[in-house]
Parts: sequence; C-alpha cells; structure tokens
Amino acid sequence: MPNLANNLTSTAHEHPEAVAIKLDDVELTFSALDEWSQRVARLLAQKDVQAGDRIALIMPNIPQMAFIYYGVLRFGAVVVPLNPLLKAREIEYHLSDSGARLVFAWEGVASEAESAVGQIAASAAQGTTLEVVTVDAGTFMQQLSTIEPEPQVAEVDDEDTAVLLYTSGTTGRPKGAALTHLNLRRNAEISRDLMGTSVGDVLFGGLPFFHIFGQTCALNAAVLTGATVTLLPRFQPGKALEIIARDSVTIFEGVPTMYIAMLRHPSVAETDLSSLRVAVSGGSALPVEVLHEFERVFSAELLEGYGLSETSPIVSFNRRGVVRKPGSIGTPVDGVQVRMLDADGTEVPTGEVGELSVSGHCVMKGYWNNDDATAAAIPDGWFRTGDLARFDDDGAIFIVDRKKDIILRGGYNVYPREIEEVLYEHPAVAEAAVIGVPDELQGEEIVAVVGIRAEAEPADDAARELLGSQILEFTKERVAAYKYPRRVLLVEALPKGPTGKILKREIRV
Ligand code: AMP
Repeated sequence: MPNLANNLTSTAHEHPEAVAIKLDDVELTFSALDEWSQRVARLLAQKDVQAGDRIALIMPNIPQMAFIYYGVLRFGAVVVPLNPLLKAREIEYHLSDSGARLVFAWEGVASEAESAVGQIAASAAQGTTLEVVTVDAGTFMQQLSTIEPEPQVAEVDDEDTAVLLYTSGTTGRPKGAALTHLNLRRNAEISRDLMGTSVGDVLFGGLPFFHIFGQTCALNAAVLTGATVTLLPRFQPGKALEIIARDSVTIFEGVPTMYIAMLRHPSVAETDLSSLRVAVSGGSALPVEVLHEFERVFSAELLEGYGLSETSPIVSFNRRGVVRKPGSIGTPVDGVQVRMLDADGTEVPTGEVGELSVSGHCVMKGYWNNDDATAAAIPDGWFRTGDLARFDDDGAIFIVDRKKDIILRGGYNVYPREIEEVLYEHPAVAEAAVIGVPDELQGEEIVAVVGIRAEAEPADDAARELLGSQILEFTKERVAAYKYPRRVLLVEALPKGPTGKILKREIRV
C-alpha cells in the first residue's frame, strides 16, 4: 500500500466513528475526514491537476489542513506545506521554486498568497495557471460539500514524492526536501511503535503540521492508528494546559520551549494532568534540568528524540522502558543507521565527536530541483545532518552542537549547548541561548542571552545588572575559563521559529 493516503482509508474503514480531529468543539470522525479528502481529490481533478503536480497548503493546524493534505496525496499530487506566517515575497519564492500548480490558502493568509501569485503571473512569459483557493469555514466548506466524493486512491510507487518540505538545511535559502510515500509511511509506523499509540489515545496537536515533527508524529501517526488529534493552531502554554485537562490528552509532543513555557505557567499547579501517559521532546536540545522538572510536575515520562526535515524526521529516540540517558537523544530507531563522520567521510572512533550522518528508510530522496545541494548533503549515501555528536559506550548518542553554531574563541572550540545547560540550572533563568559575536582579540567572544523567570524579574536597572553578573559568575564557577560567557544579556524573550525553536541567528546583541 504505497500511497500514504491508504492509511486514512483503512482507518476510516476500521474506526469510522472514532474522532480523528478536534478543534475546540468541532469534531471530525475518520469517516468524515476520509470523505472530505475524497472531495478534495475530485476538486483537483476538476481543476485539471495532474498526478505529481505540486499543491501548496498555507494553513495553521485547522481540520481543513488534515483533509486537504490527505486529499492531495490520494489524488497522487505532491503536498507543499508552508507556514501561514509567510509574507507575499516569501510565498512567491516557495511557489516558484516548487513550481506549484495550485494553492490552498487559509483565509488569514489568502491576500498574501494572492499577491504572491500576482507577482508570478506578472513575470511569467506565458502567464500562469496558478490559482489560489481560499480555505475557510464558510464558502469553501459549502462549495466542497457539493462535490461528489471520489473514493479512489491513486497508485504511486514507494519512491514517489509525497511531500516537499521546505527547510534551510545547514545553509542557504530554503530548499524542498522531497519526502517519499515510503519515508512518511515508515515514520508514521515508527512514531506509533515508539509511543504505543492506538485508538482511544488523544494526541496534542500544537506542533504545526507544516513542519515535519507535527506532521508525521501527530497527524500521520494518528491517522495510521485511529487516535485523535486535538488541535491548537497557535501555541499558548495556558491554553495547552487547558486542552490537556479538557480532552484528556494521553500523548504530548512538543519542542523544549513548549515544555518550559508550560512549567512556568501559573495554572500548571492546579491543572489536572493525570491523563498524560507520555511526552516527547524533539526539534532542539532538551535541557536536562527541564526534563527532570517536567517529570516532577507532570507524572509522565518525557522522552527525547532527534530528527530533521530531511529524515522525515525520526533518527533516534529514548525508548520507553529502556534505560534512558538524560541529555542523550537515544539510539537509532529500526531501519536507520547512524555514523559519526569526520570531514573526509571516515567514521570516528566511539566516544569522539563527528558529524552525525544517517542512512536508511527515513532519508529524503533529495532536494527538489537542486542536485548540487543534494550531492553536498548526501555525498556517499550518508546524509550529513550538520549536527556534531558522539556515541557513548552503550550506543547512546549525545548531540554536542550544530556544526555552524560552534564558537571559536581564541583557538578553542566552544559548544554553546554545554554552557546553555549550565545556565538552565540557574534558578532565575527561564530560557537561554549562547552565541558567538565577532571580537578583534579572540576572533569570537561568548555572549549569553537569557530570558528571566517572571518571579525573578529584577525590580530596577541596578538589580538587573546585579542579576546579570550573578549569572555570569554562576557559569564561570562551573566551566573552564575559556568557555564561560563574557557578557550576559537579560532579555524579555528569545526569538523563536514556528515550532518554538530558539532562533539563534536572529539574536542581535
Ligand atoms: P528541522 O529540519 O527544522 O526539523 O531541524 C532539524 C535540526 O533540529 C537538527 O539538525 C538539529 O540541529 C535540531 N534537533 C532536532 N532534535 C534535536 C534534539 N533532540 N537535540 C538537539 N537538536 C535537535
């Protein structure tokens, strides 16, 4: 059953009345989800879309996103999911690069999408057939409801592209990682197996579906198993806590900043969190301090995994029931091989740091229309992740840092992550990023940028300055002299990407 969309048809057949998607008081069963996806497939046929055409979806996590995604797949076309916060210029880039044929744009982003398409039409010699379909709860749903469902699921090969997922990778402008039906099917299965997901489970749907983590581990895993996803289109910690209690969420998936924000939220103490069975962290390093605090406050396991857009995404995971190592990203999942390679592509000895490189069923087919970038990323069958890591003697992987985030201070390599772990141990620190800034003497100087917990917020400038120097002293006492931050800046909040990942490159000091 190569087409990923077959997962939806079989689940709709086996559990037609189970709730697939929930957004506050709107609920869609699997049979409804399947039927709406059939209508989308018929709509594509009416618009003369061909198998393999790229269809952009610009939407937050709303029920329509789920059935349009599956409708495009079942038709045999390729989903190009885009962040609804993109502006016209950015949308134009993605539509042109992917050669999109049609855009489904949520009403909140439809005018940006229209002006992007207008620009493309203006610069195209033969005009363009690119069209925007505005997605809302009114007109769009009414028009769609008049279309006869089309039960057929297109035949595809395992290696056919299902989704083009735009990511900056290690360098450069966003590139479309071509993920195949096999890549995504295997990842949905692995996600199910790691979490023990089944009918009756309720997954938290607060990670955006346009990103690989939310798409595979929430949407596709739920559709495979008949579990429910309860959506939160824009993450807010108070609302997330409310949803856990309201919908008896059993599986929570998030990035570390989500866990931090929930732990710091005033209502965490009085929220009933007892339904939660397991929580998963990925996307960036989970500070060990946060892991322990989470497990104290929520009585659920918090398991860390690791992956990337280009690996659809799961590479490694701390398994349930198996000895876990806080700070580790676990061991490679079934069917995935990991090696730490040096610059020449030679494997480094166990315990030494190399570039984490991956092969197996999860690795993308390549970057869309970009053979150079593909050859640079997968020069010899091993996908270079751009992350530096080491194996310990038990085969557990520890990420040391991003290759490009390393700070070179006075000839020494400083791994920001190590210093950030120390900063998180300080009781006043809510979130932290350590970056290198150009320095005449040292080449680069180490700066810590820190968000302070609400209850520790200094009363005035003098107290602020004092707290900054206390935090600096705190790190100085705990790490080698060449590593501690020479400046500590207190900020209100650190810049974050759409999944809540801290964006170091956007920090200005
Ligand atoms: P993306 O393609 O947006 O999913 O970003 C992938 C990148 O996120 C990886 O290359 C890592 O740098 C980072 N990442 C993902 N999971 C983890 C983790 N558990 N620990 C540290 N970094 C992570």
